[in-house]
Amino acid sequence: AVVLVGEDPASKVYVRNKAAQTVEVGMQSFEHKLAEDTPEQVVLDLVAKLNADPSVNGILVQMPLPKHMDSNKVLELIEPLKDVDGFHPMNVGRLSIGERALAPCTPVGSIILAKSVKHDLSGLNAVVVGRSNIVGKPMAQLLLRENCTVTIAHSRTKDLPDVVRAADLVVAAIGKPEFVKGDWIKPGAIVIDVGINRILKPDGKGKIVGDVDFAEAVKVAGAITPVPGGVGPMTIACLLKNTVEAALMQRGLKALAA
Ligand code: NDP
Repeated sequence: AVVLVGEDPASKVYVRNKAAQTVEVGMQSFEHKLAEDTPEQVVLDLVAKLNADPSVNGILVQMPLPKHMDSNKVLELIEPLKDVDGFHPMNVGRLSIGERALAPCTPVGSIILAKSVKHDLSGLNAVVVGRSNIVGKPMAQLLLRENCTVTIAHSRTKDLPDVVRAADLVVAAIGKPEFVKGDWIKPGAIVIDVGINRILKPDGKGKIVGDVDFAEAVKVAGAITPVPGGVGPMTIACLLKNTVEAALMQRGLKALAA
């Protein structure tokens, strides 16, 4: 079940894509679209109803919520076993202590991409640029679980290019177009570009680019994800994976193979 409040154009596109792919893999998708000025209590009541509905295995409240709502209050009401975005503090905590948890979809997808080119990430020097709750921090937790040596860089990090140069695996989740340059990349490194940035080309047309300067970095990296087309589709795929995982957990069944 997806809850969308308001008219944010990017959110509408995400929700449409998620719903279409949910149906494509044979799941039922329940969409709840509410007006921008919906009172917070109406959203809380809807989440409570979805929590209690046995036909719903996963609940996703599309962020950002309108300003008059307390996003944390809404997220914390979601039943942790139905929290397919992995944002509930219970899942965040379980992930950090190494327990079975529903983990945020973008980092889960990024790990699958990295492991598709190097099955065993153990011992790698991993640098995550960005420390948001939805990407950077859970990414670092998942890399730690894969036995990487993890550095989290952010806007206050000193000598960022040198920090990135030491990485066997770089995850860029910054939100700044083509910020990570080719000469920051260690030859042969795996580069996972999470960024999605819309820029204007000189001809005035829009273009989506990542946080890494792909044209430069592709010459040095061992493997690199493109934008668009790399991490983005994996995020939706992992939302579906989490939904299956959630359904298994609700029935006390074993996890999917990683
Ligand atoms: P946030 O804005 O929440 O976080 C950005 C992070 O980048 C912060 O931790 C910030 O540091 C850090 N940062 C900003 N400027 C610099 C800098 N100059 N040097 C080093 N670090 C810097 O973004 P999100 O994590 O939500 O998203 C990151 C990107 O990923 C965005 O482009 C977003 O669109 C994209 N995204 C893509 C998804 C997908 O499905 N592919 C899903 C989610 C996000 P500080 O904490 O110090 O401010």
